[in-house]
Amino acid sequence: MKDLRSVFQSFVHQADHITVLTGAGMSTESGIPDFRSAGGIWAEDMSRMEAMSRSYFEQYPKRFWPKFKGLFQMKASGNHEPNKGHLYLAELEKQGKSIEIFTQNIDGLHKKAGSRYVYELHGSIQTGTCPKCQTKYDLSHLLKEDVPRCTRINEKGTECGFIVKTDVVLFGDMVHHLDTLFQTIEKTDLLLVIGTSLEVAPVNLVPQEAHYIQGLNKALVNLEPTAYDDLFDLVIHEKIGELVSDMKRKEGT
Ligand code: NAD
Repeated sequence: MKDLRSVFQSFVHQADHITVLTGAGMSTESGIPDFRSAGGIWAEDMSRMEAMSRSYFEQYPKRFWPKFKGLFQMKASGNHEPNKGHLYLAELEKQGKSIEIFTQNIDGLHKKAGSRYVYELHGSIQTGTCPKCQTKYDLSHLLKEDVPRCTRINEKGTECGFIVKTDVVLFGDMVHHLDTLFQTIEKTDLLLVIGTSLEVAPVNLVPQEAHYIQGLNKALVNLEPTAYDDLFDLVIHEKIGELVSDMKRKEGT
C-alpha cells in the first residue's frame, strides 16, 4: 500500500490539470450510503431502481415523491458536510492546480467543500423544476409538502399546480455534461476516479476512452475492485479519507 500511495502522490504532484470523476463512495464518509456496497441503497431492494425512473415519475408522480424523499434521506440532505476527500480536492485547487470534477453524486458536497468547477452528471437533490412551466424550486419548497407542486401564478391568475420534478437525473433521463467530460479528459494530465463501482453507463465508458489517450495518467481509488481496474495505471483499494489523510501527513499540512 505504501508504494501505491507514493505513486499516487507523484501523479498528483506532476499534474497541472486533473480531471476527477467521483461516485457515491466519495460521500460515504460524510454519512451518505452508496448504492451497491453491502448495506447500500440498491443492495437492500432492487425494486427501488424502478421507482427512481422517469417513467415511474410520469405515471405515478404522487407515489414517486414519498419514495424518493425516503430513499435519499432528503430531509437530512442539507445537513451533510464535506469529508476529507472533498476537502482534499478543494485544497488542490487552492494550491493552484486546475481541478475539474465530474460527479455522479447529487449531494452537492464538492461545491460545499469549495471546489469551483463541478459538473453534476446526475443533477442535484437540492432543486426541482416544474415540467409544465419550467419554474425552478429550492430544497425548502420541495420539502414543504409531501408532494411538491408548482405555485407560479399564470396569466389567468391561477396557480400552475403541476407536480414538480426533481432535478436529480432519473433512470431514463439524459445524463448531463457528458460531452464536456469526454473533451476534458483529452486535455488533462491526470484522470482520477474515486468511489464509483463504474457499473452505471455511460460513465463507465470513461476508463475505456481514457485508455487510448497517450501520456494520460489514470488512477482509481475505490474500496472494492471494479470491472475496469485493468485499464488504470494505478489502482488503490482503500477509503479515500485514509488515502488523503496519509497524503496530508506526508506533505506536513
Ligand atoms: P456505487 O454505490 O455503485 O459504488 C460506490 C463505490 O464506492 C463502491 O464500489 C464502494 O466500494 C466504493 N466506496 C464506498 N465507500 C468508499 C470510500 N470511503 N472510499 C473509496 N471508495 C468507497 O455508486 P456509483 O458508482 O456512484 O453509482 C452511481 C449512482 O449512485 C449514481 O447514479 C449516483 O447518482 C448515485 N448515488 C449518489 C449518492 C450521493 O449523491 N452521495 C449516494 C448514493 C447513490
